[in-house]
Amino acid sequence: MSRKSITILGATGSIGASTLAVLEASRDFDIYALTAHQSAEELLELCLRYKPRFAVLGAEAAGQQIATSLRAQGSRTEVLVGAEALKRVASAPEVTHVMAAIVGGVGLPPTFAAVQAGKTVLLANKEALVMAGSIFMTAVERSNAKLLPVDSEHNAIFQCLGQSTTVGPSVNRILLTGSGGPFLRTPIDSLADVTPEDACRHPNWDMGRKISVDSATMMNKGLELIEAAWLFGVPADKIEFLIHPQSIVHSMVEFIDGSVVAQMGQPDMRTPIAHVLAYPDRQVSGVSGLDFAALADLSFETPDYQRFPLLGLARRVASEPLCQAVALNAANEMAVAAFLDAGLPYREIATTIEQVVSLIPRKELLCIDDVLDYDHEARSLTTELLSTDD
Ligand code: NDP
Ligand code: MG
Repeated sequence: MSRKSITILGATGSIGASTLAVLEASRDFDIYALTAHQSAEELLELCLRYKPRFAVLGAEAAGQQIATSLRAQGSRTEVLVGAEALKRVASAPEVTHVMAAIVGGVGLPPTFAAVQAGKTVLLANKEALVMAGSIFMTAVERSNAKLLPVDSEHNAIFQCLGQSTTVGPSVNRILLTGSGGPFLRTPIDSLADVTPEDACRHPNWDMGRKISVDSATMMNKGLELIEAAWLFGVPADKIEFLIHPQSIVHSMVEFIDGSVVAQMGQPDMRTPIAHVLAYPDRQVSGVSGLDFAALADLSFETPDYQRFPLLGLARRVASEPLCQAVALNAANEMAVAAFLDAGLPYREIATTIEQVVSLIPRKELLCIDDVLDYDHEARSLTTELLSTDD
């Protein structure tokens, strides 16, 4: 069997680091390319350690700086810069696998390039699928790409379905679990004053800042509902949200005979990452199994839509035309960035997104360029609304 070769889009992030940790343990992949946006120092270190053929950065100056340092240290890694370079390393003929782990809609073009080139695409970048939906899934079918879910819930559902994305008539419903994040028990009145640090302090998972805020608002679960509907080809009303504060059960599938199959494990992304890297086999991930006798409690509850208004909004958007999901995602990215970096009050994340989704004129989206143009439009509208709020 020929060796597998991987490009990691977003190598300096949280998923990137977990992927490299798993790869280091198994050593059955060549590393073709590692990419980052602005973390030049971190990318330089990764290049010296993992010796990829290419490294990609967002900006020319940073690219030149690491290229010089790499040459000085005798490295043969070639440094490329910019959005076209991301697409190139995601679709190069030598590449068999692409880990799509850039955060946000900027990950869509290179992830889509990997799909069109028929790669095995390991999908962490849920925003890409939420934005491109049917266009993305049609391209997967046409190119014969293999799409494997990294997101822990979707990876769990995939395993519960017997390593398949096909939901037959024997499936009654999918139970999409979520911890409820850091504000599950915070008195609703005090949510007005929470800070980015409070929001990023997730009880169970260690993740990048954007997805941490998404977990606090539970927009993450909303995006995951849309992601699951596309991945498994089911209407959103076949998927239920279930709060499970311990994050041990990563999601479940209920069959018509009453059987419920759950996938369980530590809340550690190395498990789903190892699963998709080794698929259809298994490999060690470095994560220990569960000590059931020591688990104090496994509890479940239905979510409170007043506390988490974005759950209701995402559910509505899931059955609307694709442009609504693009607007939902774009407004969320901008509002979360404004909360993290520009003092937007926490509760205005949800109100801003609601406004954008209801105000933006609807449009039929037929190709990726349509999606990217509409994404741009939604971001402009969000910027306008955020600036008139001051
Ligand atoms: P991080 O913020 O930790 O990492 C993001 C990565 O994307 C970094 O390598 C970053 O580079 C790169 N990046 C950011 N902006 C750009 C840009 N404009 N162009 C190119 N690259 C860019 O995010 P996570 O690893 O937490 O999440 C990655 C994706 O995986 C997200 O879509 C998230 O929803 C999903 N996911 C994450 C989980 C987790 O546990 N973390 C779980 C399930 C899904 P740089 O360092 O230079 O900024
Ligand atoms: Mg998830």
